[in-house]
Amino acid sequence: MSQTKSLLSDAQSRMADIFDRLGVEDDVRRQLEQPKCIHQAAIPVRMDDGSLRVFMGWRAQYDQSLGPSKGGVRFHANVDADEVATLSFWMVLKCGLVNLPFGGAKGGVQVDPKTLSRMELERLSRGYIRAFYDVIGPDRDIPAPDVNTNETVMGWMADEYFEIARKKIPAIITGKPREMGGSAGRVEATGRGALLVLEAWSRRKGKRPEETTIAVQGFGNAGYHFARLAKQSGYRIVALSDSKGAIHARSGLAPEPIWHHKNKTRELKGMVYCESSLCAESEVDHISQEELLALDVDLLVLAALENAITMDNVGQVRAGTILEIANGPVTADADQYLAENKVTILPDVLANAGGVIVSYLEWIQNRTGDYWSEGYINERLAEQLVTQAELCFDRAEAMQVSYRVAAYLQSVERIASAIASRGTQHYFCGD
Ligand code: NAD
Repeated sequence: MSQTKSLLSDAQSRMADIFDRLGVEDDVRRQLEQPKCIHQAAIPVRMDDGSLRVFMGWRAQYDQSLGPSKGGVRFHANVDADEVATLSFWMVLKCGLVNLPFGGAKGGVQVDPKTLSRMELERLSRGYIRAFYDVIGPDRDIPAPDVNTNETVMGWMADEYFEIARKKIPAIITGKPREMGGSAGRVEATGRGALLVLEAWSRRKGKRPEETTIAVQGFGNAGYHFARLAKQSGYRIVALSDSKGAIHARSGLAPEPIWHHKNKTRELKGMVYCESSLCAESEVDHISQEELLALDVDLLVLAALENAITMDNVGQVRAGTILEIANGPVTADADQYLAENKVTILPDVLANAGGVIVSYLEWIQNRTGDYWSEGYINERLAEQLVTQAELCFDRAEAMQVSYRVAAYLQSVERIASAIASRGTQHYFCGD
């Protein structure tokens, strides 16, 4: 995934148009121009062989106008301050868009976690909390899972926070194991939310699941649950990829057995599909990750990392619609190119907001001590996300703008009014 300019400046290049369209005051532009804080720490970890390694970690808090900031923690070799800041910026927009009382933040550690033992990973996760303990909190900034961090990692992080605080404060972190105050439905919430957005849009456009073929880039937590639920709803998943390779079967793939097998082998390439009832009928081809992006499918789902589609490969995209589950998978210039070529994009801030909505529900449950059933959580997720998605689609259609522009307008309007409620130049010095 090539990157030629700063991710943050690429992401922010979309904002001038939004500010102009909304006619926001300068105070709003200035406040949203850069992150409020980027905290950096060197995190020492004792390795199993007795040596000491030091990992760089960050916590970026972009804006807290709507409430305490919310955002995941990523463990990846390519994490840096620019990426964390950009992801925190998208969190601001996402929380505003789906009307949550949260600002945006993000964390990360520059590490390839697959090279660590379980004990080293636990020490690193606890070290992250020791490093940033003073700047996070249930009313200040609430971490959650992201790439390569799962509920076990969230559990270690929560536990370390409790140890330092000398009390249980489960609302400090979301995406925890159920036994530690985690919420029903959180693990699959991002994939479920993406499907809800797709279904809401498909209903408008009269598109039927059984007539829709789908290729999914990124068969991780979000991509897997999306693919599993989409198949249950009648969609045909014809291709899947992960960081090791990609597979393709025109007659359709069964995500569940593939996931279970992948979890055993930790590698998609070289899979044997005989657990699936589909396998007997399907011809499974091994293709490259780039070939998956160029497949002639109705829907391309991007659920891996940012910058999956750039000006280098955008010309090869043949799908009519893109569902962005990853954050920032399409660069701003590639986005423009796709718009000119009439490719519809269901944007990240909307399509992947299911995770943060259920994190919000987890946070409420932790604060009230009242724990809800999975059925109730899924109902609340659907109600909140579909309501906001419909508002966004209505606005896009009324203004004849892309769904991304409509989503940004919906979000920035709310954030701008939260900033303005504290007073602006116009309020203090206007006529
Ligand atoms: P994950 O680590 O579980 O999965 C990421 C997957 O992408 C892995 O299977 C990995 O092998 C694959 N991948 C990496 N590089 C690839 C490449 N070049 N080609 C194909 N596949 C590749 O992470 P996740 O939690 O599923 O997150 C995926 C994306 O969704 C990220 O952008 C994340 O920020 C976003 N997201 C996740 C959540 C959540 O709740 N998990 C919420 C909102 C957004």
